[in-house]
Amino acid sequence: MATTIEGASVAARFLEQPKRLLIDGEWVEARHGRTLEVFDPALGEVIDHVQDGDRDDVDLAVTAARKALEDSAWSRMTASERGRLMWKIGEIIYEHADELAAIESLDNGKPVGVARAADVPLAADLFQYMGGWATKIFGHTFQISVPYTPDAQYHAYTVKEPIGVVGQIIPWNFPLLMAAWKLGPALATGCTVVLKPAEQTPLSVLRLAELMQEAGLPDGVLNVITGFGETAGAAVAAHPGIDKVAFTGSTEVGKMIVKAAAGDLKRVTLELGGKSPNVVFADADLETAIPGAANAIFFNHGQCCCAGSRLYIQHKVYDDVLAGVAGKAESIKLGRGLDEGTEMGPLVSAEQLERVTGFIESGKVEGIRTVTGGRQVSPNGYFVAPTVLDGAGPGNKVYDEEIFGPVVTAIPFKEPEDVPAVANETIYGLAAGIWTNDISKAHRLIPQLKAGTVWVNTYNVFDAALPFGGYKQSGWGREMGEEVIHEYTETKSVCIAI
Ligand code: ADP
Repeated sequence: MATTIEGASVAARFLEQPKRLLIDGEWVEARHGRTLEVFDPALGEVIDHVQDGDRDDVDLAVTAARKALEDSAWSRMTASERGRLMWKIGEIIYEHADELAAIESLDNGKPVGVARAADVPLAADLFQYMGGWATKIFGHTFQISVPYTPDAQYHAYTVKEPIGVVGQIIPWNFPLLMAAWKLGPALATGCTVVLKPAEQTPLSVLRLAELMQEAGLPDGVLNVITGFGETAGAAVAAHPGIDKVAFTGSTEVGKMIVKAAAGDLKRVTLELGGKSPNVVFADADLETAIPGAANAIFFNHGQCCCAGSRLYIQHKVYDDVLAGVAGKAESIKLGRGLDEGTEMGPLVSAEQLERVTGFIESGKVEGIRTVTGGRQVSPNGYFVAPTVLDGAGPGNKVYDEEIFGPVVTAIPFKEPEDVPAVANETIYGLAAGIWTNDISKAHRLIPQLKAGTVWVNTYNVFDAALPFGGYKQSGWGREMGEEVIHEYTETKSVCIAI
């Protein structure tokens, strides 16, 4: 664990530095001079302060981003140079992996080993993968046949242009990775950015921004405004100088973003909540399916929009799978993210603790059986025991609503034909899981699931090449892969009479 300890000491030094907003390449204080507290969720103690940016700061950031969009340092940078710069950003992230993982762990609460194995390399890889797209953004040529100009000849083609200044609002569950998901396609396409991290977890993004400056990103291409959602976030969503808003967060706030963006019809992409079904058939390899189902819900303390929070188990193996998942839940070692051996950290904030325990209490009131967990674990910090519930259904809050914590609801089903109706009985459509050894059964079910991602005999597998996003109220558009490139470009059709 030597690397972890080293990461922690470098992270501690970063915490001692004053935190500012990044506007036009300069680190500046918020105009009104206020700061906001940053907590260690494992202790419930303040560990840092960041600027409480507001509308005026967003204004300055948008002006800087607009200037940078037109400035030749960015607009005339060749696609290949942009790609190389993004590769370099990825390299620098890898070089600072221990430090970034430790910052993420301190701020968000997640185990440092998980941040080091997943969040950080995925973020680095995302920049490098998206850097590859910089040289592969192109339109088409067309043979057009215009009936009212029969003798004319045309040269017609499309070009893809950067959508412009992008406002990006990200959540607290994967702060660094969500920043990468957003920034990667923006930079690949030549956009400029005003990024607002979540107020709960601003630290890794501030460090990332420093590293991106170090890599040589021109001033004003990335501007970072830390602050609250209702102030800084709302200002980004409504700002007339912003061409597109890319948001990841709750469905509730996603709807507010849509309303705010409607004023000037700015482009919007949304990656929102989920209540994902995870289906275990009796023919599944239970030795894989049981830990897989536990991982599907308990990874990142259930604070994943795609968490497999509705666990459907075929009745013949219901008791075995339920007991197996409960056993896994009981074996998870809770602790501070930076402590060796910690497998699950605290929830991110006191507010989330209250929210998740509130859901658990509602289940108890509604008579749902708690198989294991169902309580706060430590009087300090925001720890909740991994929880398995049995007997919930439509009409129960724990079944219908996104909890965003380590709480899974198990439900038995009889026949494979019963699955699509129950799996789809949600306003969300982000992800789904299937566990079976019958490949035909899986293939028959996949097209019937209203979900943006379907995992079969696995769960929570992400890759920069694989699009991610939601059906229904889980969002608009896709992150990652080629698909996201289209979300950051406008298509211009050109028609020349020749
Ligand atoms: P959660 O409920 O999980 O905390 P939110 O959707 O509230 O998730 O937050 C996700 C991101 O959206 C955060 O960066 C937050 O500051 C921001 N946010 C919250 N409210 C608003 C709002 N009204 N307008 C714009 N951004 C917001």
